[in-house]
Amino acid sequence: MVACTKCGGRAVIQLKYAGADLCGECFVRQFEKRVYKANRDFRLFRKGETVAAAVSGGKDSLAMLHCLAKISKRIGFEVRPLLVDEGISGYRDKTMEKARQACSSLGLPLVVYSFRDHVGHSTDEIVAKKRAAGAQPGACSFCGVLRRKVLNKAAREIGADKVATGHNLDDMCQTLLMNLLRNDSNGLARFGPAGGDGMESGFVRRIRPLAYVPERESALYCVLNGISFYEGSCPYSVEAFRGPVKNFLNDLEASRPGTKFALFKSLLRFGRGGGDAAEENAGGAGSGGAGSGGPFACGRCGEPSSGRLCRGCELLSSIGC
Ligand code: SF4
Ligand code: ZN
Repeated sequence: MVACTKCGGRAVIQLKYAGADLCGECFVRQFEKRVYKANRDFRLFRKGETVAAAVSGGKDSLAMLHCLAKISKRIGFEVRPLLVDEGISGYRDKTMEKARQACSSLGLPLVVYSFRDHVGHSTDEIVAKKRAAGAQPGACSFCGVLRRKVLNKAAREIGADKVATGHNLDDMCQTLLMNLLRNDSNGLARFGPAGGDGMESGFVRRIRPLAYVPERESALYCVLNGISFYEGSCPYSVEAFRGPVKNFLNDLEASRPGTKFALFKSLLRFGRGGGDAAEENAGGAGSGGAGSGGPFACGRCGEPSSGRLCRGCELLSSIGC
């Protein structure tokens, strides 16, 4: 038996980057301490606020929801789970079921906003349209932009002060590398654990309470807390650039434990460690990108935009939707 470095009990996980083996109880405590640390370092939560928790039904968002439900009682903020249904058949319906179960076990009502209702087209329909035109499906480039837009709208409409997403340490590192490899300096500057501008710009501040949590640890946190999560992945994720970047980082971490934490520190230094309030519009042709002015109301959907059209509407019009 491997002994827990902290209490001497039976260890259930080895954390090579920390040179520690932890039992279930010490691991759960450490996981929650990391969320408190993110809160202290990036001033994520304030007493009296309403925090929308973006859930998908996967391990990260459900671990975050569980953790926020606990922490909110101590700090004194309200948690409102939100799910964006992109309309991906055989996937989102299954993950939604897990999200509903988790919310109901915490006594928190789940608010669902769908692409169909709020942008007029599901991801499946967009992909079908692109395929019919002989183009690459490129599902993620549409889905990611539209999801951020719908999430922002939902959070604003339920009166949330902030929207918390389940991005973990691995996600942050992958995004940093992807932005570097694409030479996307806007992306580098805007992606961090704590959002920037607030409601006055029409964008709800986005926060990432799991920024200090490596991906594999959110799965264990769920298991140890009896949270059932969806283990599959989106059928379109195979197309994403994120996959090879993720494998590269995992290989590096295996040979050089601590690489991901070191990279995350670089992210905080390179970027402003701030956020992506304007992420919705950044980088779009004609939108002018983040920081080009605004916000304006998008001429097509009325959502906040830094140009005449928001990025989501630009993408939809580019395929005749
Ligand atoms: Fe959307 Fe791509 Fe994520 Fe699937 S993998 S939910 S298509 S962004
Ligand atoms: Zn628009």
